[in-house]
Formats: sequence, C-alpha cells, structure tokens
Amino acid sequence: SNEGGDSQVERIQVCVRKRPVNTREQQSSLKDVVRVPAGGKGKELMVLEYKKRLDLSEYVEQHDFAFDEVLSDSCSNDEVYERTTKSLVRYVFNNKGKATVFAYGQTGAGKTYTMMGGKGQKGLYLLAAQDIFSLLEEKGRESEGLGVTVSFFEIYGGKLFDLLAERKPCVKREDGNNNVFIRGLSEHVIGSAEDLMHAIQRGHQARSTAATEANIDSSRSHAILQVCLRKMEGKGQVVGKLSFIDLAGSERAGDTGRNGNITRRLEAAEINKSLLALKECIRALAEEAKHIPFRGSVLTSVLKDSFIGNCRTVMIANVAPTQETCEHTMNTLRYADRVKQI
Ligand code: ADP
Ligand code: MG
Repeated sequence: SNEGGDSQVERIQVCVRKRPVNTREQQSSLKDVVRVPAGGKGKELMVLEYKKRLDLSEYVEQHDFAFDEVLSDSCSNDEVYERTTKSLVRYVFNNKGKATVFAYGQTGAGKTYTMMGGKGQKGLYLLAAQDIFSLLEEKGRESEGLGVTVSFFEIYGGKLFDLLAERKPCVKREDGNNNVFIRGLSEHVIGSAEDLMHAIQRGHQARSTAATEANIDSSRSHAILQVCLRKMEGKGQVVGKLSFIDLAGSERAGDTGRNGNITRRLEAAEINKSLLALKECIRALAEEAKHIPFRGSVLTSVLKDSFIGNCRTVMIANVAPTQETCEHTMNTLRYADRVKQI
C-alpha cells in the first residue's frame, strides 16, 4: 500500500506476530490460546485465558486487541517484511530519514527468528539488505557515490559490546552538539546483502561464544544492528539509517533473582528500565512531543538520533501461542497496546 513509501508511512506502527505451536508444545497437548480471527491478514487478535473459579470449575476469559498489523503463525518472514519493514526501507531512501524496527517479547517468542531468520527463512536483516542493494541499483545515477555501512553491537547490563570486533567494549559519548555517538564501535563497508549476512553471522557467533564463556545468555541483552546509507566521499555523511533492535526478553524485566544473585537482579533492573524508557520514547514520538525522554536508559540514549527528526518506528511484539505462556503473552500485548494508545 505504501509504494511511494513517503509521508504515508505511519510514524509509529505497532504489530504483533504469533509464532506457531512447536513440537514440544504439541506433544504436551498445550492449548493454542492466541487467535488471529481474519486468518492472518487482519488487525485483530484474541487471547483466551483459562482460569479457575473458587470451586475449581474452569472458565475462559477472552481478551480482544487490535494493532496496526497482526501476523498470524502462518505468516512467513517474507510476509512480515512486506507488511512491516519494506515501507521503512523506502522511507529511508526517499526521505533521507531514519527508521527503526524493534522486536519485543518474551524469550522463545520469535524475536531472533524474525530478525535473523532461521529454518531456511531469511530474516528482516537480510531481506532489508537485499532491498537496499536493489534500490541502490534501481536508482542508478541518483544513488551514485552512496555506500552502505553496518555496525552490530549489544547492550548488556547497560554496557556496550561490539559484535563485529570480538565483543570489544565501547562507550556512548556525546559531542558538543549533543549528538550521541559510540566511541570504539567498528563500522564496516558492505557491498552486497551477502556481505551483510556474513557480518551478522560473525556477530552472532561472537555473541554466543561470549555467552558460553561468561555465562551470559542472549535473552538478557539487546542486539542492535545499524545499517547506514552514506556518502562515500569526505566524512562519509550519513544520509539514511535503518536500525534493528532484537530486544532482551521482556520476561527478564520481572526477573527478581529470587536465588539472591545480585548480578541477575541488576540486569533485570536495567532491562526493566530500558523497556519502560523505550515505551515512553515511542509514545512521545507518536504524540509528536517536543521532549523525547531518551535519557531514561542506555538503550534509548544510544538510539537518540533515531528518535529525533524524520524517523519512523515499527514495533513487532512477538508472542508464543499456548496457555503455558499466556501471562507473558498478555504482558507483551498490554505493553504493545500502551505504546500505541495516545
Ligand atoms: P526469541 O529470540 O524471542 O527468544 P527465537 O526467535 O529464538 O525466540 O524463537 C524460539 C524458537 O522458535 C526457535 O527455535 C525458532 O526457530 C522458533 N520460531 C520462532 N518463530 C517462529 C516462526 N514464526 N516459525 C517457525 N519457527 C519459529
Ligand atoms: Mg533471541
């Protein structure tokens, strides 16, 4: 619908994606409690919550939601790309603007599958990169002198690590003009979608190696991929920027660390803070507020330049389908709902 992809692209788009029931869930006879009424093309979604009365008889509570897009469990990543991210890529090209795609949700709900892909399906990172390179070609002379660079880092416990440089720590800085930048973060020129895929695989590898060595798991960090469209001459001025954020598992925000582990508690507090700050920033964007509270967390302050000016944002809230995760699903949907409600 957004062929031109210009001003028609909504400033904020909040979408929900439901992943399919997996083998384990099927074998445990868990009920699929998330319904997408229009068969996958709709905007509505319903969650059935199984509850027990005092006398232990069961009843079902139905919760109805509506979002900009609801992507059912039969949607492929290609379709998710078409309905959420494609118009942003065009927006970045045509308006020399910035766009950000967030994947939100509990661990196991499909954030990384959406972003990175899996099971033979390309994810949004690669689908966007392919699109970027074909747009560059399509635009011919108009795009002459433009190049693409990529950086990939994670935020873990409020600290930044470069995933394309052996997870080297880097630091957020502000220059005299209040521009935020990350000192020490490597940027790599890429010439094709394949280049990007290799970089991502390398970064993902760095992420999981560190995870095993330091007993960190990816559900406690935010992974941020930034793809910049730049003038290749002079200072390499950025003329467009696309960011993808694979957020920390939202269940971690409530992780109270009952085992008394202080590291876990601090991590949880940090995640909580960043997810709340993110919600506030997106709401402020949606309201076109003058003040965007990006200082509320490391995550939002690092993304400052993508929250101001010509920016477009898509939030993809990922949910798992069964009654087992119903409470997390409800939390995710309420979060997504509040982002949208102004
Ligand atoms: P998260 O990153 O949110 O923790 P993952 O993306 O790792 O979750 O997904 C958990 C598991 O479910 C993975 O094995 C993944 O391949 C699978 N999965 C997630 N979404 C889908 C989907 N839409 N279709 C098929 N499998 C999926
Ligand atoms: Mg993940």
